[in-house]
Amino acid sequence: MKPTNTNCIFCKIAKKQIPTDILYENNKTIAFLDINPVNKGHTLVIPKEHYETIIDIPEDLLIEVIKTTKKISIALSKISDGITIAQNNKKSGGQEIPHLHFHIIPRYKNDGLKYNWPTKKYKEGETQQLVEKIKNLL
Ligand code: 5GP
Ligand code: ZN
Repeated sequence: MKPTNTNCIFCKIAKKQIPTDILYENNKTIAFLDINPVNKGHTLVIPKEHYETIIDIPEDLLIEVIKTTKKISIALSKISDGITIAQNNKKSGGQEIPHLHFHIIPRYKNDGLKYNWPTKKYKEGETQQLVEKIKNLL
């Protein structure tokens, strides 16, 4: 059985159970306007099947989601000056809807949006330890 979640709003969108501004779909993915756009044209791309995060989704399906993300990005780039793509995972990662999605945000000169996350500093030797730790997890 295909993964689906009856309580998931994006599964409902994929099944056309709620009104949505759909830009594109194929048998594996669907792209639609975000209901609360950061800029006009802000689009979400999802797999039709329910997977929560980039960790969970099979690679071959992720490739399909990325292909649709590129297709939409090409179209949006023709009506904007740049494109920002974002993808959040888990609550702590800023994910509000637990069904994998890519945000494609068309950007405009002087649109006033900027990353303003505060940055941190590494201590002496800390990066070597961190690199080793992560490499061992690959
Ligand atoms: P997240 O924080 O999970 O990365 O982003 C979820 C996004 O889904 C938000 O930008 C939010 O505006 C959008 N969203 C939430 N509910 C709906 C909905 O019912 N329809 C549409 N089109 N977008 C939604
Ligand atoms: Zn879902």
